[in-house]
Amino acid sequence: MREITAEIQRLKKERKATILAHYYQEGEIQELADFTGDSLALARAATKVENPIIVFCGVHFMAETAKILNPEKKVLLPDLLAGCSLADSCPADKLARYQEMLRINGRKFQTVTYINSTAGVKALSDWVVTSGNAMEIIHRVPKEMEILFVPDRHLGQYLEEVTGRKMILWDGACMVHEIFSLGDLLAMKKQHPGALTIAHPECPANIRAHSDFVGGTEAMLRKIATLEKDSEIIVATEPNMLWQMEHKFPRHRYHPVPGITCACNKCPHMGRNTLEKLADCLENDTPEIFWSPSFDRAREVLQRSLLN
Ligand code: SF4
Repeated sequence: MREITAEIQRLKKERKATILAHYYQEGEIQELADFTGDSLALARAATKVENPIIVFCGVHFMAETAKILNPEKKVLLPDLLAGCSLADSCPADKLARYQEMLRINGRKFQTVTYINSTAGVKALSDWVVTSGNAMEIIHRVPKEMEILFVPDRHLGQYLEEVTGRKMILWDGACMVHEIFSLGDLLAMKKQHPGALTIAHPECPANIRAHSDFVGGTEAMLRKIATLEKDSEIIVATEPNMLWQMEHKFPRHRYHPVPGITCACNKCPHMGRNTLEKLADCLENDTPEIFWSPSFDRAREVLQRSLLN
C-alpha cells in the first residue's frame, strides 16, 4: 500500500497530473487527491487546473464533464467502465422522444437535468444542476414554463417540496440512495437518541421524512461544521463520505445507514477505481475521455448553469 501510494505520487509529479476525487471514492484515493469534492465543486475545480493532465477519480459522467469544461486538457478515468445507475436510467434517445411528445402536446417546458447524466442528455437540456445549486437554478426557470426534471425522481420530489414548483419527473434513481433500509434507520435512531440524522436528497421520501437535515455532500459538511464537539451523526449517503467527515471533523461519531440488501451499501461504480488502476492510468496515459459531438452543446449548458 505504501509502495503504490509513493509510486502514484511520483508518477503524478513526473506526468504533471492533477488528481480530482469524488467524496464517494475510497479514503485511500481521496487521501492522494489534489482536490476532493462533490460533482459541482469538482466541475468547478477542473476549470482551474493548470497541469495538462486531469485524472478524475469518480464515475464516467464526472470525467466527461471535466473534459467538456476543459477541452484542451487530457482527462483520464482510471476505469472507463465506472458508470452510474442514475445516468443509465435516462438514455438521450429516450429523453429526446419524450421531449418531442411533450412539444407535440403543446406543453411549454424547460428541461432541468441533474449532473448525473450523460453528455448526450446534457446537450438536450436547458439547465444542468447539482444537489448544491438546484434550488437556485429552479428559481431561474420562468414561472410560465413547466419543468421537466431528469433523471432522479427522488431529488426531483425533494426539489418540488422545497421550491413549491410542480415538475414532470423522469423515473430514474440512484441504486445506492434508493435502497437505504428504513427499518435499520429507525432502529439506529432508537439506539442513538441524541444523534442528528442527515440524508442526501437522492434518498426516497421515507428516508428523508425521518431525517433532521437533507442536503448534498457539501451541505452535509457545512452542517457538521456547526455541531458541538462529540456529536453523534447518522448518515444516509454513500458510506465513503464518512471518510471525509471523519477526516475533517474527527471529534464526532458517525453511523452509516445500511442498505436493504447490503450492509455497507457502497457504490459499485465508484468502487471500480482502485489504487492499482490509478497508478496504471498515470503510467500509461489511458483510459482517456475523448471529445464527442454532443460535447459542444453540453458545454454551453454546463457553462451557463455551473460557472455563471
Ligand atoms: Fe451513480 Fe448513485 Fe453511484 Fe453516485 S452513488 S455514481 S448516483 S450510482
